[in-house]
Amino acid sequence: MTTIASQLQLVAQRMERACTAAGRPAGSVQLLAVSKTFGADAVQAAAQAGQRAFGENYIQEGMDKIAAVQALEPALAAQLQWHCIGPIQSNKTRLVAAHFDWVHTIDRLKIAQRLSEQRPAALAPLQVCIQVNVDGGASKSGVPPGEALALAQAVAQLPRLQLRGLMSIPDPVAGFAAQCAVHQRGRAVFDAIAAVGGPGLERFDTLSLGMTGDLEAAIAAGSTLVRVGSGIFGVRSYAAG
Ligand SMILES: *Cc1c(COP(=O)(O)O)cnc(C)c1O
Repeated sequence: MTTIASQLQLVAQRMERACTAAGRPAGSVQLLAVSKTFGADAVQAAAQAGQRAFGENYIQEGMDKIAAVQALEPALAAQLQWHCIGPIQSNKTRLVAAHFDWVHTIDRLKIAQRLSEQRPAALAPLQVCIQVNVDGGASKSGVPPGEALALAQAVAQLPRLQLRGLMSIPDPVAGFAAQCAVHQRGRAVFDAIAAVGGPGLERFDTLSLGMTGDLEAAIAAGSTLVRVGSGIFGVRSYAAG
């Protein structure tokens, strides 16, 4: 077994134990493998071990990798799902709309409108999450919790986007209880929007919380999708968002 395959097994075990501890069904949380800074060969190894969903932060790096995996193993590449989990500038929306399946980082209506307009007609609607800044910090990406509902309702009206939920990247904190507390804020915003519901919110079912260091706390707080990079692929060799 490759290192990546065995790391994937370990992460799956952690997720399963966290589900059990939280009284949630095993398999109620999806694993997004964050492959930023790693090559197409690493994605291929994870895909051969059964992983299907991959996350990328940098648009150009992600696009190059998608093409490279395609060239390596076209039949396998066709089964993969690509999630954009990094910030998106206006001049990159066309590429994202054409090459990704999901976007987790919607925090401005203007970007969402461009993605909807530019989503190619031949593709399924782009699946999107609103990014919420749950722990303050004016310089951070994400809408403040109090603005998430209004943005969600506006995004829900866009024809070529399917609003799927919320995502958050809180600053790392030490200790399970503190991690739970910060993720609970994301969960509360999610529950509040789900309770309002309405047109375009029929598939509001995804809470993208948790990374390698805090996935247990995120699952305890209700995450349905954890984004794990170093826990699968190892330590990144250059600093990356
Ligand atoms: C890099 C990154 C991750 C993965 O982080 P790890 O700590 O390596 O698991 C998850 N989410 C986002 C948005 C990231 O940028």
